[in-house]
Amino acid sequence: MHDIPILMLHTVNDHPQDNPMGELSVSSKGLDAYLKVLKQWKYQMISMDDLLNDRYDPKRNFIVLTFDDGYKDNLTVAMPVLKKYGARATIFVNPAYVSPESDDSDWGFMTWEEVEQAEKSGVFDIQAHTMTHEFIFTSDKVVDYYTPDKFHKYYWLAWMLYPDAPNHWNGKANRYRDMIPTGYPVFEYGRRISGKKFIPEQAYVDYLIGKHNGQKLEEYTGSHGTYETEEDYQGYIRWEIEDCKKILEDKLDKKIHTLCFPGGGYTDFALDIARKCGYQCYMTASRMRVGNNNDHLENVKKGNFCGMNRTSFSLIHPGVLPDAFFDYWVAKLSLGTYQNKQPYRTFKKLMSKIFHA
Ligand SMILES: [Zn+2]
Repeated sequence: MHDIPILMLHTVNDHPQDNPMGELSVSSKGLDAYLKVLKQWKYQMISMDDLLNDRYDPKRNFIVLTFDDGYKDNLTVAMPVLKKYGARATIFVNPAYVSPESDDSDWGFMTWEEVEQAEKSGVFDIQAHTMTHEFIFTSDKVVDYYTPDKFHKYYWLAWMLYPDAPNHWNGKANRYRDMIPTGYPVFEYGRRISGKKFIPEQAYVDYLIGKHNGQKLEEYTGSHGTYETEEDYQGYIRWEIEDCKKILEDKLDKKIHTLCFPGGGYTDFALDIARKCGYQCYMTASRMRVGNNNDHLENVKKGNFCGMNRTSFSLIHPGVLPDAFFDYWVAKLSLGTYQNKQPYRTFKKLMSKIFHA
C-alpha cells in the first residue's frame, strides 16, 4: 500500500498580481487540472476530519487536500471547483488574521462569517494554523535592507509595522509596498513559533534607515534592542497554540484536532503544548519529513500525538504553457512520483532540469 498523500495548497486566485501572496497561488484552471488528474486516477479527495474519522474507503486511493492561511478565494474560487469533482478539503485558519470585512476582490483572509460558511458548506473542514502568521526578528544581525522591489519577499514587514495590516490583506494589499520605509533593516528573521523574538531599539532602526539612505550620521553607540525572555516566549506560544484551538472550537462548535504551524516552524516546547491541549496531530516541516503517513495515521488513531507529512505539486511555471495544461502534467508527474512509479520519476527529473523547478 503506498503512502497517503496530504497535499498543501494556499490561495486559488486568477489575479496573482493584486496581492503579494500571488506567488503562492494556483489559478482556478490549475486547480481544476489537479482535480481532474485525481479524478482520473480514482482518488477520493478528503479532509483531515474525514481522515481521522474514517470517512473514506481505505481499499481505494485517497488524498487529503489542505489549504493554508484561510484565504477568501478558497471559498469564492476553489469551492466551486472542489464541488465539481466531489472533493472535500481542510483549511488551516489563523484566528487573529480573520478579516473584519470583505472587499470586492477574491483576496484577503476570510471573515468569521465566511469561515463559518466554509465549515457549513459540506466541502471544507476548518482546522488550526496557530493564532497569527507572524514573522519575527531573531537577532540584531542585519541581513538585508527593504526596498519596494523586495516587497514580495518582505511583505511581512507590513504585518510587523502595521498590526492591522493582516486584517486588510485584500485586493489593495499592494499599497503597503510603499508604506514600509525604504532602507528599513531586515534583521535575521524566522517564524513566530520557531524561537525567541528580537525587539530592535527604534533609535537604532532610524539610524540604520538614515545610513542606508546616504545620510551622514555620527556612529551609533546606543543599544541595538532586547530579546524576549523565556517566560514571554512561552506565554506567547501558549496563546498561539491553545487560544487558537479554543477560539475555533467556540466559533465553530466542533473539535479542532489538527495543527499546522506557519512555515513549518516549531520547537519541542510548542509540540509539547500542542499535545497537552488536545491536538491529535500536526503537519511536519517538509525538511523534517520522516516515515510514512500510514504509520503516522495508525499512531494518531491509537491516541498518540503525531506529525503527518505533506507534499506539494511543484509550482514553478515556465510561463509559456497555459495553466491548465502545465498544472495537469505537474499533478500527474508529482502524483506518479509520490507513488514511486518509475517512468513518472524519470520524466519529472527531466522536466525539473529543463524548467529548473
Ligand atoms: Zn501559512
